Amino acid sequence: MELEPDNAGARKALNDKVYKKNLIEAASKVRLFLFAHSSISFGLIVTFCWQERKAMHQLDDVVISRSIIDTYFQSLKEVLDTDVAIAGGGPAGLTAAYYLAKAGKKVVLFESHLSVGGGMWGGGMMFNKIALQEDALSIFQEMGIESQRYDGNYFVADSVHTLGALIYKATLAGAKIMNLIRVEDVLITQNRVSGLVVNWSSVKLANLHIDPLTVRSKFVVEATGHPLEVVRVLVEKNKVKLNTASGGIENERSMWAERGEKTVVQNTREVFDGLWVAGMAANAVFGDHRMGPIFGGMILSGKKVAEELLARLS
Ligand SMILES: Cc1cc2nc3c(=O)[nH]c(=O)nc-3n(C[C@H](O)[C@H](O)[C@H](O)COP(=O)(O)OP(=O)(O)OC[C@H]3O[C@@H](n4cnc5c(N)ncnc54)[C@H](O)[C@@H]3O)c2cc1C
Repeated sequence: MELEPDNAGARKALNDKVYKKNLIEAASKVRLFLFAHSSISFGLIVTFCWQERKAMHQLDDVVISRSIIDTYFQSLKEVLDTDVAIAGGGPAGLTAAYYLAKAGKKVVLFESHLSVGGGMWGGGMMFNKIALQEDALSIFQEMGIESQRYDGNYFVADSVHTLGALIYKATLAGAKIMNLIRVEDVLITQNRVSGLVVNWSSVKLANLHIDPLTVRSKFVVEATGHPLEVVRVLVEKNKVKLNTASGGIENERSMWAERGEKTVVQNTREVFDGLWVAGMAANAVFGDHRMGPIFGGMILSGKKVAEELLARLS
């Protein structure tokens, strides 16, 4: 039986409407599914990344310990055989280390205290300013150390700032600084100083009977300041003759800045085959005056010993 024309049209319209409705419903379900799917994926990715990040930021105490032990002993092994070994990390030793390392030489500096810097930190009588004269100004400027003219030839600088720069420049140039290690003797071969004998400072403090280790170097610089520990042990143990007026240690004389600052540079030289003195140690062995809290001479002495050794090493 054929439908009435009007009825057939109405039914087609109805079918079309139902079809469209179904189509819209299906499309929104697909959209809903895709949205839910991408949200879950996004959530999973965020969770994964967060977990990864958390894992990366979790600190393992043993890894911390291992990182210190591995890198420290690597450094220690590297300094066993060097161009120059320096005893003492005061201003003279640090300046020498800077210029030697800057020229590409292998240099190690042993400092018995926790901090390097020697007598410079406290300025004069614990006022943390240091005086310097114009002769040393260019070295201060080269290292980026700020200073101000006080009066005529006198300049002043902050002692902490000065040491910060000296330590930074020396280590940046490649000098290895080993603190808390005391030089207790020299290595002597064929009547020539050819290295240092070192031990933990705490061994001496605790009065323990523990053997030291030996470092070989082409040259040794004694920059231990007033105590003159390296030359003293060399003389005491080996009864050698030094390049001094008497052949022995002349010992430092009382305060006289004008003279002491000049002689500390003149006295910066080889005191025994292979062993050089710089800084206050130079005046202590050659018998000249101390100079108090003026530091141009110490810096100039450190630079001089580096230049002399560079000439011999080249
Ligand atoms: C702690 C201290 C306080 C001072 N206070 C004054 C002061 O008040 N007035 C004054 O006129 N002068 C003082 N001086 C000396 C003055 O500062 C020096 O004239 C100047 O610092 C000398 O510079 P330097 O580089 O020759 O040696 P210093 O600045 O003396 O540095 C020498 C370094 O060598 C280290 N050292 C010594 N023996 C050994 C060893 N066996 N092994 C390894 N390292 C060693 C020392 O710990 C020190 O860091 C002081 C020195 C020191 C170390």
